[in-house]
Amino acid sequence: MAIQVYNTLTRRKEPFEAVQPGKVGMYVCGPTVYKPSHLGHAVGPIIFDTIKRYLQYRGYQVRWVVNVTDVDDKLIVESANQKTTVFELAERVTADYLANLKKLNVVGIDDLPRASECIPEIIEIVQRLIDRGAAYPVDGDVYFDIIKDEDYGKLSNRKPEEQASGTREGLVLGGKRNPGDFALWKASKPDDPDEVKFDSPWGKGRPGWHIECSAMSSKYLGQPFDIHGGGMDLIFPHHENEIAQSETARGCQFAKYWMHNGLTRINTKKISKSDPEMQDLLRRLTLSALLNEYSPELIRFFVLQTHYRRPIDFSNDAMESSNKALSTFYRFFERVERITGTSPYDVPFKPEGAAGIADPVAGAFLKTVAEYKLRYEEAMDDDFNTAGGIAALFELVTFINRFADEQQLEASKGVKADAAQSLQSAAGTVIFLGQLLGLFSEKPPKAEESLGGELTAKLVELLIDVRNKARKAKQFEIGDHIRTQLAAMGVKLEDRPDGTIWRME
Ligand SMILES: [Zn+2]
Repeated sequence: MAIQVYNTLTRRKEPFEAVQPGKVGMYVCGPTVYKPSHLGHAVGPIIFDTIKRYLQYRGYQVRWVVNVTDVDDKLIVESANQKTTVFELAERVTADYLANLKKLNVVGIDDLPRASECIPEIIEIVQRLIDRGAAYPVDGDVYFDIIKDEDYGKLSNRKPEEQASGTREGLVLGGKRNPGDFALWKASKPDDPDEVKFDSPWGKGRPGWHIECSAMSSKYLGQPFDIHGGGMDLIFPHHENEIAQSETARGCQFAKYWMHNGLTRINTKKISKSDPEMQDLLRRLTLSALLNEYSPELIRFFVLQTHYRRPIDFSNDAMESSNKALSTFYRFFERVERITGTSPYDVPFKPEGAAGIADPVAGAFLKTVAEYKLRYEEAMDDDFNTAGGIAALFELVTFINRFADEQQLEASKGVKADAAQSLQSAAGTVIFLGQLLGLFSEKPPKAEESLGGELTAKLVELLIDVRNKARKAKQFEIGDHIRTQLAAMGVKLEDRPDGTIWRME
């Protein structure tokens, strides 16, 4: 079955058909780099990085472009506040953004153009619009005339006459012909820093925000290209205006599929922005702060547990429950390593897992594993439903754990070779499908590493040994005391057929 994509433009799911067979061009609006990135800035990249991975898995060659807006009013104001240059601020914030994305395993961006590097392309498209009578210069500014675009409003489902641009009727339009007309080029003001003044046929100035994306997407991907993505808050006016400019300038479709991700919401129990608790939460929500508090894999997992078109509700409780869910996978991988002697992270995935397995029970088991894989793919084919994909992985892990229980694989280590081999292969499937989501690329740190080193690990092992001796001597009270006290410190003991293991909760 073909991949289905929900297209904001048509308001329905459509079968995905690439503009050029086998190739996908994808453009996602990036950040305006004037302050440190927060969770919301990472959500889009995590989602579209996952979409790229899945499209590649489905055989497409994908080129993914994300822009950086480095010329903007916000940068001018913020750099003045910080007594630095626009350039220095933009470079610093961009570096912070990219470093955080890398930690989150967002590694699929092919091109990251800066607006300041694409001024000739921007001027070219503005000039085209003027030549076609769809844009007009006024005192060094250039505006797009929305009345000249018959389709204006098709993405956000609004009519041009509804565009009041925040002014009451009869108020001064500031040189604009219609209230909804928007700036393609802005004349520089006397106090603008030199770094954001560029020469143009209309005098010194800088581009408007919307035109940057029109110019940068077509520069790298041509027109039309396949997927244009961004947060839902960008549908209007930003994306509506991108379409108007690009389609009017080039006389053909701009982007085929418009994909919008839900926004990040903070579950604050209705506290106000000035409340100290809220202040603390907002501080913690910068990506750097979040990455200090949570593992990057947990943040990525948390984001992908929600379908991309739904809002993401961030709260401590939500992170806690994601952490528990993710630990289920980690514990499963550890169990497989205990049984087989090899971590599933270290075993390359083989799609033909059942080959060479003679034991009929193990063979039937692997057949069911393959059915779960299909279920995962069905979820992902259905508008990249990562939440459904993760749910399928959960069910798969439950199924595999049940198999290991029934076969008593821990107690019969080394005896049931076929069963152990099929367990390893099934675990490999979980890792492989997880990697399509950008998860499970690296082994998570072991409990003892996160607890503070070898000595602690040895002391816990010693306590486990003392507890086992006490239990053998029927001194259960001592055994229980050790277990409860360790649990209070966050160390959980688990008695298994082949011994007691421990982990941090
Ligand atoms: Zn954009």
